[in-house]
Amino acid sequence: MDIRDVSVNTSFSAQHYDKSPDAIVVLNKKNEVIHVNESFEKLFNYSFDEIRSKNINQFIVPESHLEEAGELSRNALGRMIVRKDTKRKSKDGKTIWVSALGLPVKIENKEDGILVIYNDISRTIEAKEKSEEANRMKTALIANMSHEFRTPMSAILGFSDILKEELENKEHLSMIRDIHSSARRLLNTLNSILELAHLESDNFRPNYSEVNLSVEIASLSKIFRNLAANKSLNFSLDIDDNNCMVVIDTEIFNQIITNVFDNALKYTHKGGIGVKVYRKRVGGKEVVVVSVSDTGIGITRDNQKIIFNEFRQVSEGISRNYEGTGLGLTLSKKMVELMNGKIEVESELGKGSVFTICFPAAAEYKHKEHQTELPVHGKVTQDSQNTKQKILLVEDNKTNKVLIKRFLQTHFDVDDVSSGMEALKAIPKEKYVLIMMDINLGIGMNGLETAREIRKLPAYKSIPIVAVTGYALAGEKEKILANGFTDYISKPFTREQLLEVLIAALQREY
Ligand code: ADP
Repeated sequence: MDIRDVSVNTSFSAQHYDKSPDAIVVLNKKNEVIHVNESFEKLFNYSFDEIRSKNINQFIVPESHLEEAGELSRNALGRMIVRKDTKRKSKDGKTIWVSALGLPVKIENKEDGILVIYNDISRTIEAKEKSEEANRMKTALIANMSHEFRTPMSAILGFSDILKEELENKEHLSMIRDIHSSARRLLNTLNSILELAHLESDNFRPNYSEVNLSVEIASLSKIFRNLAANKSLNFSLDIDDNNCMVVIDTEIFNQIITNVFDNALKYTHKGGIGVKVYRKRVGGKEVVVVSVSDTGIGITRDNQKIIFNEFRQVSEGISRNYEGTGLGLTLSKKMVELMNGKIEVESELGKGSVFTICFPAAAEYKHKEHQTELPVHGKVTQDSQNTKQKILLVEDNKTNKVLIKRFLQTHFDVDDVSSGMEALKAIPKEKYVLIMMDINLGIGMNGLETAREIRKLPAYKSIPIVAVTGYALAGEKEKILANGFTDYISKPFTREQLLEVLIAALQREY
């Protein structure tokens, strides 16, 4: 309730308000109706005669709002101007959203009273509710689409990957490589579109933490160096300061830097790519800068202005030379700005480009010793055949089941079941070291419910339960982890990625 003190009482005379488009009522100290104007009669469907000298609350105030209406009157009588968006009802019982303004008046220059002005805001509230509903539907649609696309995609990518190793006929091999790379491309496009829709929905919330960008880049550069080498390009890494602390969402940052690096790789055919991390002062404030420079095709000044726009590429239409959606930089810019950063480009056609991404430095973490250590990335190693550990796979989709078992056969002994009920039956009979579970299990219990039930069994209180899901949206992860899962992998994944998650889960202490 919006309350303001008033020192002057407004003197009331009915004819001033009769033609006002807002509904107006004048009440005495006991909340009895002294006067209403035409707009009031229209809005609430009561004639003045019907409610004259009667307590207003019994006509237009819903039960649930009686106390609040009383407070409004008391405040107005106590010489306060009160404004409140609230609910009232008309004679036919219809709810009306109003913005009510209550103020103290002197009736006919004598008696203390209250004047209430009601502005009908039902339309505004309805529009707001509709847009919130549309937003909720959009998010649900994105989540379902994400699931529906990723699940079959994991089968296409996974099996084509396995076949690539096993096929011997050259022609077949070339076909399967095409299937695999087309599926990858489709998935990238799908991911970009879903990501954009998600970024624009209200539910996108970065998961902020203090991150040492020097460490993050040093660790990513191992992958970058390999990718550059695959294209016979040089790669240089220049970390100016080992403690470049910023407050960002690491996953989102990795997506941004990967986008920018992938572009540098795609648009550079000779020379190389350099990545730098350094601090800089901008307008008296310290920022951390990550730059990616390349000796590629470069971008003209005019084109530099459009490349951050949705679906825009420098080579478009019939002269289009490069694959891609034109969404990478749009997404990167939105993501950088969401985390209070800035992304810029400097480039010269034919010479190369420099993309710089900067974030405000988190100065207070500057000197944390342990942050300088580079993380050791766990490599997947193969256990010896005779010590295979037993894991349970809960998955209702036959194709995925076969795929995951194929992925894991060298490392684990995998039992599989198709529903939550079957999982609960199987578990007490065996000593599984880990459970892998799909979240969407068709009919019956879903993965979240099953995990909660499993956690009730004393022997399974603390083993790793890994969620496998097609719902790869931010926010889902937290929900999954809150329901008894310890780890999370979203479809589609490669064999390496899956093994890495499982092995890390098993190596952790519980
Ligand atoms: P795309 O999927 O087409 O790569 P982006 O949004 O990532 O979409 O980039 C938009 C356009 O910007 C690209 O199509 C390309 O023309 C240009 N571009 C981006 N990075 C570079 C680079 N490092 N060198 C030259 N051109 C680039």
